Amino acid sequence: MILFDDSIVSVFSDYGIMLPLEASRAKKIIDHLNPSITASGAFPGPVLDIQQALAALGKPNDVIKRADIERVHSPEYVNALFSDGLQAELLNAYELIGLDGKPNRYEPDKAVQPLSALFDKILAQCAGSYLACAAAIVPDGQHFCYFLAGGNHHARYDTGAGFCLINEIIIAARKLQAEGDARIVWIIDVDAHKGCGSAELVSFMRNGAGPEPFETGAGIFTLSIHMARGWPLDDETLRGSVQGRAPLIPSDVEIPIEQGGESGYISRLEDGLHKLERLGGKPDIAIVVDGADPYEHDGLLSSSLLRLSLGQCVDRDMLIYNFLRERKIPSAWIMAGGYGDRAWEPPYHFLEKLSL
Ligand SMILES: [Zn+2]
Repeated sequence: MILFDDSIVSVFSDYGIMLPLEASRAKKIIDHLNPSITASGAFPGPVLDIQQALAALGKPNDVIKRADIERVHSPEYVNALFSDGLQAELLNAYELIGLDGKPNRYEPDKAVQPLSALFDKILAQCAGSYLACAAAIVPDGQHFCYFLAGGNHHARYDTGAGFCLINEIIIAARKLQAEGDARIVWIIDVDAHKGCGSAELVSFMRNGAGPEPFETGAGIFTLSIHMARGWPLDDETLRGSVQGRAPLIPSDVEIPIEQGGESGYISRLEDGLHKLERLGGKPDIAIVVDGADPYEHDGLLSSSLLRLSLGQCVDRDMLIYNFLRERKIPSAWIMAGGYGDRAWEPPYHFLEKLSL
């Protein structure tokens, strides 16, 4: 199943946020895909929007509730999000105020929507990631769902970061576990930027350091393959030290790729998947944070330290897909990072390859 819903896409410039995020990215993928996927529902289709997915899975419209966020983030932070503190948390999460106190990529005079209105879109994306997981674990289903949005993986226990207000990946995983739909969850994060928030939250849950602890027998195991330098490993460490935040925590399988190390990317990822399997046993579901920003034609300056070719991006996704399929592990794929006018290409080519 493919989850695609144009109504939940954020047009960041509407809020005065100046990021090279193309609002038509998901639509371009759908428009280019083999028409049989959308017309007849051939694998990896059918294509459903959020409302259709809610109905098909028997979920309520308000599927992501405050309690789902409280399971993951600190009470003080959740209180801020659901009060007048929201504006300040959005300014922080999207880094709209630089360390020098001046606006950064932020032009509020050009906004046509209040910044706080972004929260509804963020919650809708979180719902999408959860629904992708719910769709992937339907017993007699395809055991595969690709959500053409979402991917907020940087938000930490008590703060947003890196364009992520809440950590929708961990919220989705914990909701599945709390509702008895999964016990062991893998997170395979191939976004160019380290999945720092997810690693921190999982570590805190294991150590009883804040978030609601895991239910008996439940666990999350994380793999992150990412740029060894830049954001967040260097830049967020600097910002975090200014703001008094704790240091970043490694994922269970941490694979930093140094600049120029693209030729070893696939083999290191394959080794990492085997290591994840040794650590985590067989999961009930794998959530793949399928960032396209390692692509050499990505349009974000901060992702330019990793430059995979289109072929390497597709090989990466096919490696993960086949690894999971051989082990009969259901998978929910979240599109995640990807910037500029060519960011649609890697997920499109992956989905098109699956359809052949
Ligand atoms: Zn990224």
